[in-house]
Amino acid sequence: MPVRHLIIGGGTAGINAIRTIREEEQEKSEITLVSAERPYSRMVLPYYLDRSIAESHVFTATAAVLGQWQVKTHLGRRATNLDIKSNTCTLDDGTRVEYDDCLIATGSSPVRAPVPGADGKGVHSFWTLEEARGVIAQVQAGTHVVMVGAGFIAFTILNSILALGAKLTIVEIAPRILPRMVDDAGAALVQEWLQKRGVTIRTNSAVTGIEDAKGKKRLRFKSGGDIAGDVVIMATGIRTNLEWLKDSGIAIKRAIVVDDQLRSNVPNVYGAGDVAEGKDVVTGEAAVHAIEPTAQEHGRVVGANMAGKNVRYRGSLLANIVEVCHLDVASFGAWEDAKAETITGLRKDRPAYRKLLFRGDRLTGAIILGPSSDIWTTNDVGMLKGLVQTGVSLGRWKAHLERNPFDIKPAFIASRTTGTLLLETVLGRPSKAPGDSPVAV
Ligand SMILES: Cc1cc2nc3c(=O)[nH]c(=O)nc-3n(C[C@H](O)[C@H](O)[C@H](O)COP(=O)(O)OP(=O)(O)OC[C@H]3O[C@@H](n4cnc5c(N)ncnc54)[C@H](O)[C@@H]3O)c2cc1C
Repeated sequence: MPVRHLIIGGGTAGINAIRTIREEEQEKSEITLVSAERPYSRMVLPYYLDRSIAESHVFTATAAVLGQWQVKTHLGRRATNLDIKSNTCTLDDGTRVEYDDCLIATGSSPVRAPVPGADGKGVHSFWTLEEARGVIAQVQAGTHVVMVGAGFIAFTILNSILALGAKLTIVEIAPRILPRMVDDAGAALVQEWLQKRGVTIRTNSAVTGIEDAKGKKRLRFKSGGDIAGDVVIMATGIRTNLEWLKDSGIAIKRAIVVDDQLRSNVPNVYGAGDVAEGKDVVTGEAAVHAIEPTAQEHGRVVGANMAGKNVRYRGSLLANIVEVCHLDVASFGAWEDAKAETITGLRKDRPAYRKLLFRGDRLTGAIILGPSSDIWTTNDVGMLKGLVQTGVSLGRWKAHLERNPFDIKPAFIASRTTGTLLLETVLGRPSKAPGDSPVAV
């Protein structure tokens, strides 16, 4: 009898796992996918919002591709229970699926600020395709959009809102924008850049309620001073979709606790993507990195292990990269490490900022900001990511970076970081061309 793999969640992690099982297995297995939504990429939804791509382009594995991979599907269905003794998963329509091993990759859901009116008409989240459709239907040229929350996700959709010709106001409860992505100096630079481009920003502003007022949405604040807009988008955080596993026996802290092979405390149950608390490659500590590259890599590693390989994951890199109105903004690794040796550089002639954090002679964290039109900004984003990810020993090049935080290239080349990165495919083997399917590998 073929091995029965069950994949719960058809997002980035789940689809990468399926693809990898088919690539790596010696004998054809049986794969079943249970997913509340059809497989698509949340990360490309901002491009759908500004009409750069059609809706059909958000899907990562169509029915035809799943058929080609010989995957049995339960799409539009939710897993509601996992019985780890009988190896059975129950779905919301009562169907029971038996498995030999199982991947939980159910991702996250948006959380709205707990204030009256947060669920009202004209108040949106922007996390699912369905929610994206809702925003698309309401935002056009001249619409006043009020975005509550100035974190990474808010910033991924900011360009699209402006590209549609909408007016944008951002309100943030924290003292600075992008509070979990850049430091005070970086946030001040981004804020000034956006204000010069017509975006209104209010920090230190806690929303206390949202009311309907003459066809508008009126936001009230703890500190006073209302704002009236046409549409409200709440980008106020996410939570893992794990409540259905509450009594299952799967160990969950901030997310499913997984080992180096991404197995949970139950050896034939794996966790991947936003719902997995795995190793951080820089600190070696357990962390939840709810970002696309982690979901992709987790999916690849789990897929290989389900296919019978013995792949250990090196750990994921915390990496947030956005481009806002042609300003590149990125941070990597332990950029908030108060115990690291830190140097900063702020250019007077242009909006460019660097913060480099060292432990010994290794770069363990970095923040970089600069105009996308400066070729060295874009190049340095990639090189800083490489230096943090590999943790290469910089030797005397550390002193060079300390003196010249805007001159990354010599240190990158001299430390042979490219050579180190090239050997580092997630599965420890040369990468394969993705073939006909659009799923990234
Ligand atoms: C607008 C937007 C922009 C983003 N931009 C970036 C970016 O630029 N860079 C970046 O790194 N990250 C970005 N992200 C985050 C990234 O998309 C997520 O980290 C990634 O999708 C996580 O993948 P996943 O497979 O863990 O979960 P998901 O992709 O969320 O997939 C989870 C799947 O599980 C299904 N599911 C949930 N519960 C159940 C259940 N009980 N039973 C069955 N199925 C279930 C869901 O319907 C979904 O299909 C962005 C996210 C959004 C919303």
